[in-house]
Amino acid sequence: MNLNSMQEIVSLARREGKKFWEVVLETDMENREVSRYESMEKMAQTWHAMLEASQVYTGERRSASGLVGGQGKLMYDYAAAGKCIGGEFMGQVIGEALAMGESNACMRRIVAAPTAGACGVMPAVLIPLYWRENIPEEKMVEAMYVASGIGAVIAYRACISGAAGGCQAEIGSASAMAAGALVYLKGGNKDVMCHAVAMALKNLLGLACDPVAGLVEVPCVKRNVIGAVNAIAAADMALAGIESRIPVDEVIDAMGEVGRRLPVELRETALGGLAATPTGRAVKKRLHGNRGKKKRTLTIKDARWKLEKPAEEASEAPVEGETVPAT
Ligand code: SF4
Repeated sequence: MNLNSMQEIVSLARREGKKFWEVVLETDMENREVSRYESMEKMAQTWHAMLEASQVYTGERRSASGLVGGQGKLMYDYAAAGKCIGGEFMGQVIGEALAMGESNACMRRIVAAPTAGACGVMPAVLIPLYWRENIPEEKMVEAMYVASGIGAVIAYRACISGAAGGCQAEIGSASAMAAGALVYLKGGNKDVMCHAVAMALKNLLGLACDPVAGLVEVPCVKRNVIGAVNAIAAADMALAGIESRIPVDEVIDAMGEVGRRLPVELRETALGGLAATPTGRAVKKRLHGNRGKKKRTLTIKDARWKLEKPAEEASEAPVEGETVPAT
């Protein structure tokens, strides 16, 4: 089958007496023409890569821009000192999300889940729980299938990239995947899982993608934290019996629709939101300076500039009156 509807996966699983993760596994076997063993081995490798990325983190690296690095360690130390308002577990979740986001910015090996920018959300909720509750490896691999199936449905019905649908599509999708995996690990049934996924995605609907200087650093690293904390809240709400009034597939469709309506400035172009604040612009100038710009400048009112400007660059047009580099 194709993983294009949460409801269809749930219905099929019920009809055939299977678990959600088994339907995802069998779809992977079919699509990639691999055996059950090969599929599970690959997923286990992915889980171990996530664990390893967490274990090799020291907090000593800094990104090339100098914007991020060391935040995860600060959080771990703060939590270890018993100071975290949300308790030690929440401190570990926040620390893990920061550490993985930093690792991506510092060119370390990470697992894109579903994207590199959102790589901290899944490990932030899975790894602290794995250690705290001593969960068997097989169960963690099954939870990875659950998350993968959710991500596949979101990718099919909506999108999972900031350029296509804003940060709701990256951090929001990661949060929904993590919420579903958490419900599975805590023994919730498929309906509960769907409610958790719906609530996690709903809570981040409309989130802009506005990376400062076009780097996946600010606000990306810290947004992984809100994706993780939101996933835990959504999973706990669903496990407590709280339901999403909007069915999960409709929520995913709404996310896709919101993404299509987001202005291009808020879809990874670094032209709006935090990237366009005075500080965001100053950071960009400090990092990129006038690199790539020619000396001569033209104004947007210049007819020749308008004629020569390639159509695909139209989204980068500055506000009227601003100077722009000569083309
Ligand atoms: S702000 Fe954009 S680049 Fe950064 S994590 Fe969100 S979607 Fe990715």
